[in-house]
Amino acid sequence: MTVLFATFHSITQYAGMSTNSVEDLAADHSSRLQARRIERQLWDSWSNGNGSFRLEQHSASHEIVEVHEESVRLVSEKSMNLEIGSVLLIEDSNWQKGYQINEVLTDGEITYYIASPVEDPGKALFLYVGSHPSQLEPAWEDMKLWYQVQRQTKILKIMKQNGFSSKYLPQLIASGRIVHPGQCRRRNGGNCDYPWCGTPILVTNSVGITVADMVKVGQFGKDEAIRCCHDCLSALSAAASAGIRHGDLRPENVIFVTPGVGQPYFVLVGWGHALLEERDRPAMNLHFSSTYALEEGKLCSASDAESLVYMLYFSSGGEMPDLDSVEGALQWRETSWSRRLIHQKLGDISTVLKAFADYVDSLCGTPYRMDYDIWLRRLERHIHGKEIETSS
Ligand SMILES: [Zn+2]
Repeated sequence: MTVLFATFHSITQYAGMSTNSVEDLAADHSSRLQARRIERQLWDSWSNGNGSFRLEQHSASHEIVEVHEESVRLVSEKSMNLEIGSVLLIEDSNWQKGYQINEVLTDGEITYYIASPVEDPGKALFLYVGSHPSQLEPAWEDMKLWYQVQRQTKILKIMKQNGFSSKYLPQLIASGRIVHPGQCRRRNGGNCDYPWCGTPILVTNSVGITVADMVKVGQFGKDEAIRCCHDCLSALSAAASAGIRHGDLRPENVIFVTPGVGQPYFVLVGWGHALLEERDRPAMNLHFSSTYALEEGKLCSASDAESLVYMLYFSSGGEMPDLDSVEGALQWRETSWSRRLIHQKLGDISTVLKAFADYVDSLCGTPYRMDYDIWLRRLERHIHGKEIETSS
C-alpha cells in the first residue's frame, strides 16, 4: 500500500493531479472486489457467522476481503459476541493489528477477553471492548464499558506519557477502533451503520486472576494478603506521584500475575474511575469505598488505602455485611473501626497489616498526606523476612 501511494504521489508530481481522487479509485476497486467475492461465494466461508474474523481463513486469503452485504445485515441485529478463536482487527491512525481471542472472562457484569497479538501468539494480554460511540442515552452497562475502555485508555495514556514503568500498574499496549467486516461507509469523523463501527478497544498487559476469584477458590492466604498490600500501595504511590488516584479499589480490580520467571505479584487494574482533577468523582461501592468518598463524593489522601484495607479485610475472611444504603455503609464503617474489628482481623494475618490499618484509621478524613515509602519499606522487609516486626 505504501509503495502504491508513493508511486501515485510520484505520478501526480510529474503529471499533475489525477481527475479521479484516490478515494474514488479505492471505492471503485472495493465494489469490483466485492462483486468478485460474491461470485466466488468466499464471504460465507470467511466470516464465521457472527462477523468476526477467523484466523484460519484470514491467513489462507492474502487479498483484501470484502464481506457480502447480506451477511452484514445478518449480523447487524446481534450484539457483539466474540468467541474463542475469533480474530479482531484494530486500527489506530497509523496501524492495524490483529488480536486473537483466547479466553472470554467476566467480572460478573461486563465481558472482557484474554487475547494475543496475531504476530506474537505466545503473549497474553487483556482486551476490553468498549461501548458503541453513537449511544446517545447509554445504558448502565454502556456506562461501565465507557469507564472500562474510553476513560481507562485516557488514564493509561497519561501514565505512559509520564513515563510510568511500575510493574504493579497495567500498561497500555494498544488502543484503537474495531475494523469491522464489510464495507465501511464512515464519513468524516462519524460512523457507518454497521453495529460495531468505531467501537473502541483497549489492550493492556499483565494477565492474571482477580483477587475476587482467588478468594473464591481459597488461594488468598496470609502471604498473598501482605504481598497484595505492598503491591497495591506501590501502584497507588506511583500513580499519586502524578496526581492520579484510583477511586475504585476492590477485589475485581486487583489481579495476581504469575510470570514465567520470578515471583508472582499483584497488579492494580481498572483505572477507569481514576481521579485526575478536583471535579472527578470516585466510583461508589458500599463495601469498598472510603468513608470520605461515601460522605463527600471525593477522595482524601488515604482513601485508596482505606479501600485497600477493606479489600484485605473481606478477602481474608472478614464477615461481609449486607449493605443497601450509604447510611448503612457508613454505619458499618463507624462500628467496625470503633470496635477495632478491622484491626483485629488484619492482626490475625500479620502485625504489619494491623499497624497499617491503625495508620490508615488515623489518617482518614484528615488533610495529611499518605506516607507510602515508610509502609512500602515495612511491608517489603516483612515479605523478605529480614526484620522481626515491632508493633507500632
Ligand atoms: Zn463502518
